Amino acid sequence: MCLHRPACPAADRPDRDAARVVSAHPEQGWSLLCNGVVLFDDGGQLLPDGRAITAADLPRRAAALAAAPSGTAAAAPVGCDALVATG
Ligand SMILES: [Zn+2]
Repeated sequence: MCLHRPACPAADRPDRDAARVVSAHPEQGWSLLCNGVVLFDDGGQLLPDGRAITAADLPRRAAALAAAPSGTAAAAPVGCDALVATG
């Protein structure tokens, strides 16, 4: 669950990969985001509900981001990793 302020994008948002990384595993090629999304190095995503977004879906995602309200992804807070480090 995201404890950041402002809150990170939810897993059902097109900009979901802008959420903060809470567990990084670069040696295995994936990271867990605070919204529950598993983000893979190739851009693929595994959503909390079990749906998979493949790298081939990314152009569609980019179009969705372009249509999203401005500032949502760029507003991700900096320096609050400690908030989620404890769980
Ligand atoms: Zn967050």
